[in-house]
Amino acid sequence: MIWLGIAILLLLLPAAWRWQFWRPVRKGLLVLMYHHIGHIAPADGQFPFTVTPERFEEQLQMLKKHGFTPIGLDEIQAAARTGQKLPPKPVLLTFDDGHADNYENLFPLLKKHNVKAVIFLITRYIGQEKGYMSWDQVRQMQQSGLVQFGSHTLDHARLRKLPQDEILRQLIQSKKEMEDHLGVPCLAFCYPFGSGGFDKRVRPLVFRAGYQFDFSTKPGINPWPWKGKKTLLRAFPRGGETLTDFYVQITRGKSKF
Ligand SMILES: [Zn+2]
Repeated sequence: MIWLGIAILLLLLPAAWRWQFWRPVRKGLLVLMYHHIGHIAPADGQFPFTVTPERFEEQLQMLKKHGFTPIGLDEIQAAARTGQKLPPKPVLLTFDDGHADNYENLFPLLKKHNVKAVIFLITRYIGQEKGYMSWDQVRQMQQSGLVQFGSHTLDHARLRKLPQDEILRQLIQSKKEMEDHLGVPCLAFCYPFGSGGFDKRVRPLVFRAGYQFDFSTKPGINPWPWKGKKTLLRAFPRGGETLTDFYVQITRGKSKF
């Protein structure tokens, strides 16, 4: 009998690793991190960072079915300022880097479902590098009222490796470029290379440069009100993941180790 128990446990272990249903359901502000919306071969290095438009739409439907309220950065800013509550089960959709497929594939779906999003731009790549959006496309998204933008540095710098004056230049100059092009304050910052891109030395400089929110790639769901003691956590739906994974992501903040 005991052997049967052990055998069942051993069989359950891989499933517990893959789908972390055993983690407690978390309440708070759910932030999802995406990069590309498009089609890509599984062998491509960008595959984990690419969700197909079809799967993304299924994910939007799942969020709706489970009572999540997609909100924008403006609502988060207002709530943080006034100490107000957020709507029930708030979710913020974020997209890193400013890839052209965000305009081509994501933007039509945001309009179709009337869902807001935040895109973090590498300002020197916009209108310059192949595969990235133009400032005109960025402005079209902004004018829809559905998309807001944050900074992801000038050129995707690994800030942790830089001297302080260069870190501040990356933070301040990219903020200024965003504001010059878009005419609104740029208050959100997202670290390139996630947790490998910043450290205790970098984070205070983000706030010194005038940002109010910093987003990392640490997985989880954020307690609200957010006190700013830690970076904002983001759940990371990867390319090729199932909808079961997505359900675990949106309720637990992570699906796998
Ligand atoms: Zn990035």
